[in-house]
Amino acid sequence: MESVPEYFGSLVFDDRVMKAHLSASVYASLRKTIDEGEKLDAKVADAVATAMREWAVQHGATHFTHWFQPLTGITAEKHDSFISRAPDGRVIMEFSGKELIKGEPDASSFPSGGLRATFEARGSTAWDPTSYAFIKGKTLCIPTAFCSYGGEALDKKTPLLRSMEALNRQALRILRLFGNTTVKHVACNVGPEQEYFLITREMYDRRPDLKFTGRTLFGAMPPKGQEMDDHYFGSIVPKVAAFMNDLNEELWKLGIFAKTEHNEVAPGQHELAPIFTTTNVATDHNQLTMEIMQRVAEKHGLVCLLHEKPFAGVNGSGKHNNWSISTDAGQNLLSPGETPHDDAQFLLFLCAVIKAVDDYQDLLRISVATAGNDHRLGANEAPPAIVSMFLGDELNGVLEAIETDSPYAGVAKTQMKLGVDVLPKFNRDTTDRNRTSPFAFTGNKFEFRMVGSADSIACANIMLNTAVAESLRIYADRLEKADNFADTLHDMIRKTIKDHKRIIFNGNGYDESWIKEAAARGLCNFRTTADCLPHLLDAKNVDLLTRHGVYSETELKARYGAILETYCKTILIEAKTMLSMAKTQILPAVEAYTATVATAAQAKKALCPSLACAYETETVERLSALTDRIAAEAAKLEQTVAAAHAFRTMEEQSVYIRDAVRGAMLSLRTPCDEAETIVGKGAWPFPTYADILFSTR
Ligand code: ADP
Ligand code: MG
Repeated sequence: MESVPEYFGSLVFDDRVMKAHLSASVYASLRKTIDEGEKLDAKVADAVATAMREWAVQHGATHFTHWFQPLTGITAEKHDSFISRAPDGRVIMEFSGKELIKGEPDASSFPSGGLRATFEARGSTAWDPTSYAFIKGKTLCIPTAFCSYGGEALDKKTPLLRSMEALNRQALRILRLFGNTTVKHVACNVGPEQEYFLITREMYDRRPDLKFTGRTLFGAMPPKGQEMDDHYFGSIVPKVAAFMNDLNEELWKLGIFAKTEHNEVAPGQHELAPIFTTTNVATDHNQLTMEIMQRVAEKHGLVCLLHEKPFAGVNGSGKHNNWSISTDAGQNLLSPGETPHDDAQFLLFLCAVIKAVDDYQDLLRISVATAGNDHRLGANEAPPAIVSMFLGDELNGVLEAIETDSPYAGVAKTQMKLGVDVLPKFNRDTTDRNRTSPFAFTGNKFEFRMVGSADSIACANIMLNTAVAESLRIYADRLEKADNFADTLHDMIRKTIKDHKRIIFNGNGYDESWIKEAAARGLCNFRTTADCLPHLLDAKNVDLLTRHGVYSETELKARYGAILETYCKTILIEAKTMLSMAKTQILPAVEAYTATVATAAQAKKALCPSLACAYETETVERLSALTDRIAAEAAKLEQTVAAAHAFRTMEEQSVYIRDAVRGAMLSLRTPCDEAETIVGKGAWPFPTYADILFSTR
């Protein structure tokens, strides 16, 4: 076996491979395209395509695909082989620059929120040279953006790239104002921590709910859950360790810096964190990671559950989005500096984030809104559905001192003055203690904890980048016109703190009292997707996203439609799965078990007529009452689902599904879960929570 440095990135057409396989001039023009977004000319594209194909064929590839990220949230690919007919009738392998740069998949079956009429079924994919091509199986995968024929973005990559550009543009303006004339590019970086559950294939195969919806729709609480806190960071059992080893190897070959792995809070729950990288690449890599996790699990007789809430009453899974901005010279703009000048710049970027998170709380909540994540946000575990920020005591103290022009003990004897005093170093230990905050400063980056485990990180970063770009734009507009830079800067920072300090909350985000206080502060609290999504089209949000060229209004309306439709469909599929399980598996099982108990009583009485058979009688009575309730609730849910199609607008339908359908689902679940605790284990049609959660042990 080769060592890790030998095989790391072996399946990636990365810089090293490019240098080795391209002529110096072709390499130089490609690098210009990658680094500066310069257009690639046709000749160069042909040369790159040929080199890519030769390299891919050497590594066993026979096909290529434009790999893209439609609004479904997962990746899509249509494979074409390299083969062409040679003049002598034999086969040659070919791949042109044109094929590399542009593809035209039939796009009619991807969600478009009505953007692409079906008569215009063609979409087009365009190569994103900033994310390296790679080989998966026998296919060369070319990361691409996906647009409708009219040029509207139908994917998540296009707006993400646009938001990165928006942030770059505005951040550069600020850096110039601080006298930096050399920085060419500002990038945003992300390290997503991916949580997931592992269960055995055997358990999965016996749960129609997991198969059809990714989560359990029934299940009584197990006698042991996560209350002992003995799983978190616990030693990794051999079955799981073998999975992780294999997974790391696969990811490393693809150039993904998988770094940290550990057990999470719930039994069967684990986490994988890569080393952070440019947002665009981090997003592609996270999509690949999720796909490969599932494939590797399969090989080990396991199933990887990425759903945000596979089990009620047990912690759900998220994806902490660690986010920072840095220059091409390697300076992290969210890291306090070495000089008063750097500190003033740091404080301005920090304020830009505070203002962005407060002004666009709704967009951040919307960016993580899915039916699955709704179960997690607001439950007593992950961050609440209310967006707030945690800065830590030290930084808070500094901001308070600036706001009130009062002395800050940690900094100077006199009052805190921007551009004069040096900030203290904020180390991770003092800033990272709060684990309940949805948006926490962790020393030199922010950790946005609301993203769902199954979701692409694209949307969260699109909104975050754009909102911060907007704060920076407002600051730059003002500073460029200022007569006195230092005074204007100081005023702006003070004003931001005054106007936006309501978003800062350092207490326990799970606390009931916080919900009341947040309401008093005027913060948004959107419990569900149906509640928050309509605000995507609020004038202030449309203004923001169109102003920075991240979405056109048409594209935004399309997303809105697509997300709401997915929300409704997801819950309706869950409801129908419940109905089928309740009617064709649970009721017959309870019925059969009741008969077994009744038969036992009869047999006992036949033998000993004086026996009371109190246990049997009571069990039969309780189960009979439950079967009646289950049947009645199933009938109600069935009617509720049938009526869900009668609404004129999607908004009305989504509200109905949120209230009536979800309510009826819960009413059906309760008696079914109760029956599970009475019916003999052998007679219950599915594995229990305890069976599933501890199945890898
Ligand atoms: P924890 O679980 O303690 O929050 P992890 O080590 O699991 O921390 O994950 C931290 C993540 O943050 C990693 O993906 C890491 O690469 C990433 N990260 C570290 N520094 C930065 C930074 N400057 N910008 C973005 N992400 C970062
Ligand atoms: Mg972690």
